[in-house]
Amino acid sequence: MIIDTHVHIFPEKIASKALAGLEQQYGVSACGEATVSGIHTSMQAAGVDASVILSVATTPAQVESINNWVAEVVKTDNSFIGLGAMHPDYPDIENEIQRMRELGLKGIKLHSEFQHFIPDEERMFRIYEALGDDMVLVFHAGDEVIPVREIHTTPIRLSNVLDSFPELKIVAAHLGGHRCWDEVESHLLGKNIYLDTAYVYPVPGHEHITLERMVNMIEAHGFERVMFGTDYPFRDQGQEVNNIRNLGIDEKHMEMIMGTNAARLFNFDIS
Ligand SMILES: [Zn+2]
Repeated sequence: MIIDTHVHIFPEKIASKALAGLEQQYGVSACGEATVSGIHTSMQAAGVDASVILSVATTPAQVESINNWVAEVVKTDNSFIGLGAMHPDYPDIENEIQRMRELGLKGIKLHSEFQHFIPDEERMFRIYEALGDDMVLVFHAGDEVIPVREIHTTPIRLSNVLDSFPELKIVAAHLGGHRCWDEVESHLLGKNIYLDTAYVYPVPGHEHITLERMVNMIEAHGFERVMFGTDYPFRDQGQEVNNIRNLGIDEKHMEMIMGTNAARLFNFDIS
């Protein structure tokens, strides 16, 4: 079973505009359509069984409509796991997170560079408390924009959140913090946090880690808390399946990374 734990898709009518904005900001070009049908085509070609939809609200006003849309997509389609959106300035955090549970969403994604927060600042705690021990929290971590802008979600900040909220199910995207590898090694590896592989594998033009270091970090962290993720449509799912599968990790641990860890974390049953 292959689960891609990190994909971005949008409603049909805003997809091309949203994608163009992200392409410009990150200086990358997409390799697929950021829509439901686009990712279906990609998943079929890549042999991906399920994808985790991640959405970020750049304003509090977007929160409910994003959550309604993701819920609508996952309701009728068992090949998706839906995460909702939340925003630090959203007024009624507790009720909206409860509504997400009722809609069948499995957690939220937060992105400090779009939402202007620091993970361990106190105003964020309401969100973490409302998520309880059942909803998953995915943080964008580190950053891939060049030249480097100030990074707000650093491994040290994440480690502080872990210390304060030991029951919270946290995923740090981009192997704990894109291009913050020294800090990931000293502050996150081995701790009770999931790391995804999205946008980390070195490809021409984006060689920010060596393969040797990537494998060493995965092994040092523990195979049971690393999950396959691509960042579709910014990485090709088929190529990333091959890239990660060929890291030289044994088959038993590779199965955990490719799907079973995610199935357990998101309580997902393929059948
Ligand atoms: Zn992403």
